Amino acid sequence: MRTAGESTDDGAIMPLLNTSLFIRGVFIMTKWPIGVFTSIDAGLGVHLDVAAELGVPSVQIHAPHQNTRNPEAAAEFLGKCADSGITVTAVFGGFEGESYADIATTAATVGLVPEETRAGRVQEMKEISDFTTHLGCDTVALHIGFVPEDRSSGSYTSLVECTRDLLDHVAGNGQQLNLETGQESAEHLLEFIADVERDNLFINFDPANLILYGTDHPIDALIKVGHLVRSVHCKDGTYAPVAGRGTDWGAEVPLGEGDVGMLTYLKVLDSIGYTGPLTIEREIAEDRERQKADIGAAVSLLESLRDQVG
Ligand code: MG
Repeated sequence: MRTAGESTDDGAIMPLLNTSLFIRGVFIMTKWPIGVFTSIDAGLGVHLDVAAELGVPSVQIHAPHQNTRNPEAAAEFLGKCADSGITVTAVFGGFEGESYADIATTAATVGLVPEETRAGRVQEMKEISDFTTHLGCDTVALHIGFVPEDRSSGSYTSLVECTRDLLDHVAGNGQQLNLETGQESAEHLLEFIADVERDNLFINFDPANLILYGTDHPIDALIKVGHLVRSVHCKDGTYAPVAGRGTDWGAEVPLGEGDVGMLTYLKVLDSIGYTGPLTIEREIAEDRERQKADIGAAVSLLESLRDQVG
């Protein structure tokens, strides 16, 4: 198995932490490499060839289906990445039966929170962590679901327990787990992470999700949780009207056209000392042409803002 940070004979690029790359034996420190959220055969990300065509140097990937989570599939994907000079920086878990149709359905079906599917999904997430080792990647990530508000409830305490179990497995693979933001406020996410009491639990900060779910203000939230942010999404959105906020979806929009405020977002990322990838996410897989065009525009926007701020 390749080890994170290891240079390979064929010149492949292997990740070392979030900010360092070995490229053909040369150790390079980079700040804010652009990234794209991609999919192999499951999930809403773009295909790897889009990242390659756009010249993007890093990707996060949605975990493939169970029957393609094997060393051979990992080697094939890594080979394609190497051909395009792309580093895999995180692998996101996702599960059969999840639906983001509306906020109530999301709460009922997504992540490790729904109790009827929890044990099977924890096991599957462990398998995704194992698959991730074959990609030479030290980060798995997850929408854990709507963490129950009541910290004394059985649902909450059992979620803490199963998260610890998962994190211990992930640690055995030399990895960290980054929780996607959006389904709870910054304060409650911090409470949950503190209650889990593991040192390999961090945050993948998605500013748009906080807007889409109506759970928090993205910039205020980033300032609160910044010390735990180990990866980020660059995604934009507009709030639902006040009357429906928290029950009705906001709208995901092209980067720079929503309520996040990308210049401020990058300035705050800079102020908290975040130097890892800026991973663009555009969740309109039903319109691949527009998805690619919007991501291309997002790359240009981020490169321009990075020159300004970085
Ligand atoms: Mg996201």
